[in-house]
Amino acid sequence: MIDRSSPTRAAATCPTCSILFALSKTRPNDRKGHIVVNSPPPGSKPPLRFEVIVCGGGPAGICAAITAAETGRRTLLVEAAGRLGGTGVNALVNQIRRWTDTSYVERFLDRLDGFVDDSEFLDLRYADLVQEAGAEILLHATVGETVLRPVAQGSGGPTVAGVRLATPSGPLTVEAERVVDASGDGVVAFLAGAAFDCGRPEDGLMQPATIMFRVGGVDHPATMEARGGRGSYRFPDGSTWDQLTMAACARGELPPNVGKVRTYPAERRDERYINATQINHVDGTDPFDLTHAELEGRRQVPVIMDFLRRYAPGFADAYVSLMPAVVGIRETRRFRGLYTLRREDCLTGRRWDDAVVTGCRAPIDIHNPDGPGQVEGVSKEHPAGRDPAPQPYDIPYGCLVPEALDGLLLAGRCISGDHGAHASYRWQSLCMATGAAAGFAAAASLDQNVQPRDLDIRPVQNALGIVRPQDASNAEGTQP
Ligand SMILES: Cc1cc2nc3c(=O)[nH]c(=O)nc-3n(C[C@H](O)[C@H](O)[C@H](O)COP(=O)(O)OP(=O)(O)OC[C@H]3O[C@@H](n4cnc5c(N)ncnc54)[C@H](O)[C@@H]3O)c2cc1C
Repeated sequence: MIDRSSPTRAAATCPTCSILFALSKTRPNDRKGHIVVNSPPPGSKPPLRFEVIVCGGGPAGICAAITAAETGRRTLLVEAAGRLGGTGVNALVNQIRRWTDTSYVERFLDRLDGFVDDSEFLDLRYADLVQEAGAEILLHATVGETVLRPVAQGSGGPTVAGVRLATPSGPLTVEAERVVDASGDGVVAFLAGAAFDCGRPEDGLMQPATIMFRVGGVDHPATMEARGGRGSYRFPDGSTWDQLTMAACARGELPPNVGKVRTYPAERRDERYINATQINHVDGTDPFDLTHAELEGRRQVPVIMDFLRRYAPGFADAYVSLMPAVVGIRETRRFRGLYTLRREDCLTGRRWDDAVVTGCRAPIDIHNPDGPGQVEGVSKEHPAGRDPAPQPYDIPYGCLVPEALDGLLLAGRCISGDHGAHASYRWQSLCMATGAAAGFAAAASLDQNVQPRDLDIRPVQNALGIVRPQDASNAEGTQP
């Protein structure tokens, strides 16, 4: 569980590379997170070579691999699990809404039509799209170290030149000219020593973890959704579903922080996905915390099922039909980039001349890090009464470029942003969007023979179908 005495991650200096190493004061072994190129351990297999490696096969990594490969660059997508799709597939988060007007992403979402509500086959659809684009996929391969080239004169820092994978047949080194970190937790950037922040500014607490699950045996015509909607449905005493749930939580009929039980449509009419379990004070990068979250979250499910059968109209005969492979983690590391997107940028609809994602409309969706329910988000009924709606905002390219590393691009929920902005761009379609941008940017930086930080972003914007910067009336720049 999170050590509340040191909420914001400490940083120290790596003796090898003169770069920041987060956590090194408390976890000395973290210093062993990289190897120096040209010194493979004795007896290891010869390294594989690609032009672009994408680490992490979630929504961001899938799109990064597709766009890098579409440019003709030899691309490898590496994933620790046995399926593509990341949190969406393996943690059963199957709601993908269109929160951006970036035309490349809209076209990509069109190609997923018919699959987004079906987590059983979405992973295969993703794999087809990645392979059709020409990228190779390597599953069951976990990034455990980075290959670093030391700081060169005039560079932004050490260069990430590959990764070392833990595989069932032993370590495998893959070298590449560009690496995209789409691992959610930013494992590559972390191992390479990049600086990052976690959680909310006041205490470092992150959003809670959740075990999603699916139920069958729902009598659809009797449900609140079929009888006017969950929000407008009233129980005999006049209470709403959310009020009834909070009251049951206060009476101890639900686990302590389960103050909201959300039901989402599923593949079939008699099924629902349930987003309700809540495990607070979890650091999703700590295996001990993850173990606690997996077990505690799964133990909450039967209690929530009893509650649903007792109170939710149409759920009297419902049963659990699917449990996820892994616990869902909403928030971990946010790396410091050339620009850090702020909550205010989202709320004021800020635009940038180096925008790589445009028209972002996803709500700032913060599930309570320290209690039940949501503190900000999509519901109008959260306790704090706040429901901030972003104006359509841009994500500038600077958020994808780590502050002090070369050779590396960030994509998905680990890009550079504050706690509030992260709560908006963590939605899957926006992770896809930063992934698509990172893949094109990796390829373009090779075309231009420059490091990502020095990229002329216009070819990437053209590939993404983004309005040219001079057309944006109040645009600003984040590139140096
Ligand atoms: C409970 C919950 C509900 C949510 N609800 C919604 C919703 O309704 N709609 C929505 O759009 N979003 C939702 N989200 C958010 C969304 O699922 C995530 O923010 C999004 O999936 C992040 O995408 P990503 O590609 O950055 O990372 P991920 O989806 O986490 O993918 C990262 C991938 O990297 C792999 N990986 C990690 N470490 C390594 C390693 N060392 N080596 C190799 N591979 C590695 C992982 O296995 C994973 O496949 C929800 C999240 C949670 C937890």
